[in-house]
Amino acid sequence: RAKDDGGGVHCTYVPSLHADAEERRTLELSLRHAIAKEEMHLNFQPVVNAQSEGIVSFEALLRWTSEEHGMVSPAKFIPLAEDTRLIVPIGKWVLHEACRQATRWPEEIKVAVNVSGEQLLEPNFTATVVEALAATGLPANRLELEVTESVFLRDGRTANEALEAIIALGCSIALDDFGTGYSSLGYLRSIRFSTIKVDRSFVQGAAQESPESIAIIRAVVAMAQSLEMQTTAEGVETVEQADMIRELGCTKIQGYYFGRPMEASEAYSLVAKRRNAA
Ligand code: C2E
Ligand code: MG
Ligand code: MG
Ligand code: MG
Repeated sequence: RAKDDGGGVHCTYVPSLHADAEERRTLELSLRHAIAKEEMHLNFQPVVNAQSEGIVSFEALLRWTSEEHGMVSPAKFIPLAEDTRLIVPIGKWVLHEACRQATRWPEEIKVAVNVSGEQLLEPNFTATVVEALAATGLPANRLELEVTESVFLRDGRTANEALEAIIALGCSIALDDFGTGYSSLGYLRSIRFSTIKVDRSFVQGAAQESPESIAIIRAVVAMAQSLEMQTTAEGVETVEQADMIRELGCTKIQGYYFGRPMEASEAYSLVAKRRNAA
């Protein structure tokens, strides 16, 4: 592009810009066929009750091992999938696969699935959820969808309607990465979230005794309590962080300390083991 503008001064930027665009294009080409080539699979990360430490749910996290690019991080391919709308068919596959795996677990715990704005704002989204539940036989109350604040920015009304329809099915909704978006708080009035997930940055700040992070977590916990919502602390990596979070009153904990994202078979074994121990 810089070349077309005839701006010789931009020349030094051309090679790296070009390389970036080129990488995106080849990544997109591969992403287009990733589902058909069976290159995608899900990992599952446990979420535990902050008090009992029993597993209350697993969050499904998408993994892609590409023939051409090797393992690609979700931080890279999810935004690309969103930009190209490939997230719509990919997300449909994720929903099915997450529900299918959850029906196999030896206990009736929930599975949480991340949903991008592009998916939620699709007219057929509710039908996609109904289909995934019907095809797998997972009861609606065992499916939780995670959305971020950004879905309300783009088209708040459509997002509200879609979430209402999902709640009417019996599914629950979690508000992911809370505090990192452009929170207007208005949507907390209209949507009955089951859970607010406090972003990892606050959790890690609190453990480093940042008074601001601590104050924000306290406020979110108090607000959630009065709205009758649960709170999950994300990204808890150490026993100190877990203790801190418990003290601050978060009701659930997720993070490397209690379990990394794991293969479906490991998730199954973890539930079975805990069950036998109980
Ligand atoms: P998220 O939904 O906030 O998921 C939590 C992310 O934090 C995951 O990264 C997880 O591996 C990571 N994490 C969990 N515990 C810890 C911890 O103790 N410390 C640290 N440092 N990190 C922790 P992951 O799997 O790389 O996914 C990144 C993001 O990609 C997700 O953030 C989510 O927004 C998106 N994503 C993943 N799978 C899907 C999917 O199936 N559909 C959509 N639409 N988005 C997805
Ligand atoms: Mg999430
Ligand atoms: Mg999150
Ligand atoms: Mg996130």
